[in-house]
Amino acid sequence: MDVSDWQTERKRTRQILVGDVAIGGGAPVTVQSMTITKTADVEGTLQQIYALAAAGCDIVRCTCNEAEAAEGLAQIVPRSPIPVIADIHHQYKMALAAMEAGVHGLRLNPGNIRKPEHIKVVASEARDRGIPIRIGVNAGSLDPELYEKYGGPTPEAMVESAVREMAYFQEVDFDLMKISVKASSVPLMVEAYRQLSEVTDVPLHLGVTEAGPPPAGLIKGTAGIATLLLEGIGDTIRYSLTADPVEEARAGRQLLEALGLRQRKNVDLIACPSCGRAEVDVIDIATRAMEAFGDRKLPLQVAVMGCVVNGPGEAREADIGIAAGNKRGHLFVKGRNIAVVPESEMVEALVEWAEFIHEHGTDAAIEKADTALAEREAAKDRSSLLDTQGADVNHSTEKIVEIRKKISG
Ligand code: SF4
Repeated sequence: MDVSDWQTERKRTRQILVGDVAIGGGAPVTVQSMTITKTADVEGTLQQIYALAAAGCDIVRCTCNEAEAAEGLAQIVPRSPIPVIADIHHQYKMALAAMEAGVHGLRLNPGNIRKPEHIKVVASEARDRGIPIRIGVNAGSLDPELYEKYGGPTPEAMVESAVREMAYFQEVDFDLMKISVKASSVPLMVEAYRQLSEVTDVPLHLGVTEAGPPPAGLIKGTAGIATLLLEGIGDTIRYSLTADPVEEARAGRQLLEALGLRQRKNVDLIACPSCGRAEVDVIDIATRAMEAFGDRKLPLQVAVMGCVVNGPGEAREADIGIAAGNKRGHLFVKGRNIAVVPESEMVEALVEWAEFIHEHGTDAAIEKADTALAEREAAKDRSSLLDTQGADVNHSTEKIVEIRKKISG
């Protein structure tokens, strides 16, 4: 069984290329983010792009709002490790300048550049250069005429805005496009994308705009993007967070991995929620483990479990895990105990074994370990815990007697 067995079939869209990254047409869903530096600050912007790429970003967008930004792009594009898209808002000439700078794509907001002749000049130039354009409709900056016609930013109004822009593009034979219909309201954006996917096979770029700072921004972004991805809609995504953009890229990457849409690149850390049985501060160990793994490229599922009584069993699907018991850490691989270490060395041992597994595989780890000894020690700690805590860690039998007394009294 594979995760794809439970996935909805992806809606087939046509494919475009942003630089060397394919979008739509069955290509893996990609992660985008946007720099928050001044684009004219070439070194600062490149530093941010490198950090974004390391965190899993596939395509980056930089604002092109002034001549200095376009000039900056001319220096950024050849040094960027990932394709660069120029974000254009009000001045169509900035789109022409960005193309001259060599960008791999443009994003136009139809609510801001409204003159058909300007739109067609940009699309014709993009057609001649083979540069794709995203039609970026935004509920907050909808064309006033459509706003009036529909009485506000409705899904229908947003779809019509995109369809009108597409028509201008088609007039000049330009079809290298993708579309977004973002809103800060999750139900609104979900419905707009659903309607849009009914009327076009152009690849769709998903996002909840102005989602705000994490954690609320992450929740909003995930609610909208994941809902659509699980319906098979969406070819590329962006979280819009009021935070370091690296967090956007990381979240995008993690969401796609969690949905089984991209192969795991980094550690997937699972941890028990902790309970009365926990023998350690699970939150502290999980946080320290997360920090220790950092951005190491170890595509493994790693478990941190609070007790050796239930931990190894509950996390038996993990590639490697650690469970606490009697001031010791019990390492387990695919549910089999492989080593016992002092509690103070739990995190280091976890990282060391994870690296070994990444290099040699889980079978080699089990072979290398003295599993009989590790299992004996785990059994000892498990039974000593059960002796002190009992199978009923919450003392529920006594509590129920007390509760009944209270109620009947
Ligand atoms: S692994 Fe142990 S500590 Fe963690 S939730 Fe399960 S029973 Fe509780």
